Amino acid sequence: MSDKIRVIVSGAGGRMGKEVIKLVLQDEELELAAAVDRSTMDTDAGRLVGLEETGILVTSNLEAALAESNADVLVDFTIPQSAYENTALAIKYGVRPVIGTTGFTPEQIKELDKQCQEQGIGGLIAPNFSIGAILMMKFAAQAAKYFPHLEIIEYHGDQKLDAPSGTAIKTAEMISEVRKELRQGNPQEEETIEGARGGYYNGFRIHSVRLPGVFAQEEVIFGGYGQSLKIRHDSYERAGYMPGVKMGVQKVMGYTGLIYGFEHFID
Ligand code: NAD
Repeated sequence: MSDKIRVIVSGAGGRMGKEVIKLVLQDEELELAAAVDRSTMDTDAGRLVGLEETGILVTSNLEAALAESNADVLVDFTIPQSAYENTALAIKYGVRPVIGTTGFTPEQIKELDKQCQEQGIGGLIAPNFSIGAILMMKFAAQAAKYFPHLEIIEYHGDQKLDAPSGTAIKTAEMISEVRKELRQGNPQEEETIEGARGGYYNGFRIHSVRLPGVFAQEEVIFGGYGQSLKIRHDSYERAGYMPGVKMGVQKVMGYTGLIYGFEHFID
């Protein structure tokens, strides 16, 4: 028996799923157990990502893959509508879920944790697998204790639907847990153009820039007496999430229960 971690990739034909397939095929500690996507049936998983043929065809039947492929972990980057069902199915078959798909409710997370505990396996749901972005959030929260005056600016491509980004909201939440209550700026301040000061969150502002050509960036700017501090993370491509995905796949083998948020893996 090989001691490699056997991984099923769900959402294999998607932008993130293809990066995960490349990671699994190119990493000596991981092995592709199956590749699942509802819309890329009968394609070889290796060929799908421009690598050598693997003999593993992308299938549309996740349940059969879970039942038959002797997998250790399911990595899922699909759509919010399928993510809960896919995760619950993996747990049912004793396959540890590592989920990047967004959109879980707190009730669903609680329920999936219960299912993982019952099965005696680990699970991970991480809305952000970027180790750099997680560090940025942690450093920003640390700085906010000493610099309570701050603004967040996040940059994404112009086709992004939601603003501010999930990462900006998460940053704001983590900052708010430690920052002393303070409403920034001049109380008499007036906007002559609506929105000029950005979105209001617990006394500070969040600005969302949307431009073609941009992938994902965020900076937190702190102002103090006679000084300022900027903490910035730049993400250039989806491959940047893969070190986090690999770390998640390895970690999930070693505990029981569901962990929500990659930040719990980073001291
Ligand atoms: P995408 O649209 O490129 O790919 C999604 C793929 O999932 C498609 O190929 C689709 O056919 C497939 N799919 C849909 N339903 C399925 C099902 N029930 N079973 C199997 N396959 C199914 O999307 P993407 O950009 O790869 O993003 C996927 C998800 O990952 C989104 O929810 C996105 O928000 C999230 N995401 C998370 C992170 C993170 O760090 N956690 C990073 C980027 C994207």
